Amino acid sequence: MIELEHVSKTFVTKSGTHKALDDVSLSVADGDIYGIIGPSGAGKSTLVRCINLLEHPTSGSVIIDGTDVTGYGDKQARELRRHVGMIFQNFDLYAQRTVLQNVTFPLELQHVKRADRLARAHELLEMVGLSDKERNYPSQLSGGQQQRVAIARALANRPKVLLCDEATSALDTISTISVLKLLKRVNRELGITLVVITHAMNVVEAICNKVSVIEDGAIVEQGAVADVFSNPQREITKQLLGKVNWDE
Ligand code: ADP
Repeated sequence: MIELEHVSKTFVTKSGTHKALDDVSLSVADGDIYGIIGPSGAGKSTLVRCINLLEHPTSGSVIIDGTDVTGYGDKQARELRRHVGMIFQNFDLYAQRTVLQNVTFPLELQHVKRADRLARAHELLEMVGLSDKERNYPSQLSGGQQQRVAIARALANRPKVLLCDEATSALDTISTISVLKLLKRVNRELGITLVVITHAMNVVEAICNKVSVIEDGAIVEQGAVADVFSNPQREITKQLLGKVNWDE
């Protein structure tokens, strides 16, 4: 479903150049819940933003569902993002719109008929368990509820892939569990492939089947979650797993 081939990304700023991604290759199969884990600043967000072309790689290729999208311009990239949805740490809901209007908004952009927009939004709000909140505004909801609205909005256009960028990092334990369970259902019941960016190993352990560990812009370890967890090779992976020798 997603192939990254030798993807590098260099940012040029006034203070110099920074290589945020260094020769990253990975392969996400249809139906995977693929975790990408690493410490802050490792390049996780940049990597996931290269998948939906919010960032363009400096070199390398991005292939989505068999199509090389690397050279896409703005218009094609916007079209791609209809099939590759995204949710964020801070939910990014429209504050001036109700829950229902947030979920119908992507469909308005596609000029979907009003009755069809409402039917789809009601179906999604039921799925995420928020039918009773459709007239509320985002500020009237808890963090976990806001993220569930964001998931419903991201699913409105029936994407094949959902990118989750630190989707539970701003949530408490109980809300984290409800959002992770929902993401698992989205994968299982709707057949949507998930890419889960996180700095928390418990998130990977809870829902992912494969994982890549990223450090300083490069993938340092990759494989089935069970293998990487039971036999971590790299120091960074051991630390992320909490295997720290405090007396060293
Ligand atoms: P992570 O998501 O793992 O915390 P990021 O992908 O956000 O890491 O950032 C990786 C590195 O790239 C960081 O050093 C960050 O400062 C840098 N970076 C990210 N986006 C930009 C940008 N638009 N311009 C310049 N540097 C950036």
